Amino acid sequence: MPACPMCKKAAALAYRPFCSKRCADLDLGRWLGGAYAIPAGPAEEDEDEEQPRPRPRLISTDDAE
Ligand SMILES: [Zn+2]
Repeated sequence: MPACPMCKKAAALAYRPFCSKRCADLDLGRWLGGAYAIPAGPAEEDEDEEQPRPRPRLISTDDAE
């Protein structure tokens, strides 16, 4: 497993090549040029909550019928 490019710790399989979601987010933020810090009009995330969306069903391999 290669080292995390952000902090040089051992990378985690779930977040490779990073060691954690935090490092992955940090890298993404760099790619976007800090877009997260720029307020871009009304928050679209609030709008999202008004629409009930079907929840993805959790697929359990233990519960195969
Ligand atoms: Zn890291």
